[in-house]
Amino acid sequence: MTDLDRVLDLQTSDTTTDQLRHRRETLAEYAELKAIDVREAEIVASVVEPRAERDSLGREQKRLEDEIAGIEQKVAVVLHQLYEEGLTSPKEAQALQADLESLKRRQAALEDEVLELMEKIEPLDAALAGSVADLDTVRGDRERTKAALVAAQAAVDSELAAVAESRIQLAAAVSPEMLKSYEELRPQYGGIAIARLVGATCQGCFLSLAAAEVDELRRRPADELVHCPDCGRILVR
Ligand SMILES: [Zn+2]
Repeated sequence: MTDLDRVLDLQTSDTTTDQLRHRRETLAEYAELKAIDVREAEIVASVVEPRAERDSLGREQKRLEDEIAGIEQKVAVVLHQLYEEGLTSPKEAQALQADLESLKRRQAALEDEVLELMEKIEPLDAALAGSVADLDTVRGDRERTKAALVAAQAAVDSELAAVAESRIQLAAAVSPEMLKSYEELRPQYGGIAIARLVGATCQGCFLSLAAAEVDELRRRPADELVHCPDCGRILVR
């Protein structure tokens, strides 16, 4: 095994590391979490209007109920004047009776309004409760997805750790000059600094070399560092 073969093994290891890092950055759970955020925002936005309407109807109901309570107090006062005080003349009693009827009519009208309001409130409450349940579902999904993300990250991390450990030995087996050359080239070539020449094709750029170029490369000493004339990567022939 030549130094170049060992660099090629190192390259394979580094490529695996790059792929694992890419996998870690693009785990499906990240996209799922984004989708969950979008769903949550949609639900939150969808309740704004019905919530405001529900609150407004609720305030109106409260106002009517307060008014009804006020009328009930007045009715009690009139009833007291009529039947408990016993001091009223027939004329006064007639007037009080008229007051009583007027108050009762007003109360009945207000109670009808309350019923109408309650009929409007009922479906709003049902829809809002549905949205609350949807939010619970979404938040549960988020917790599960976060846990799945942590597990997926840990799985990739343990693969990365194993590759990093074996890389130490692979790098130690390569001559320091070759290692330096490889590590300088790697960032310039998208992470792939060294490639095998298969037939006349560089496996780094996948361009075919001219027959004369291939002959010339093959005549060089096996451990001499040669570069692809097209892409500049170290070639293993
Ligand atoms: Zn090339």
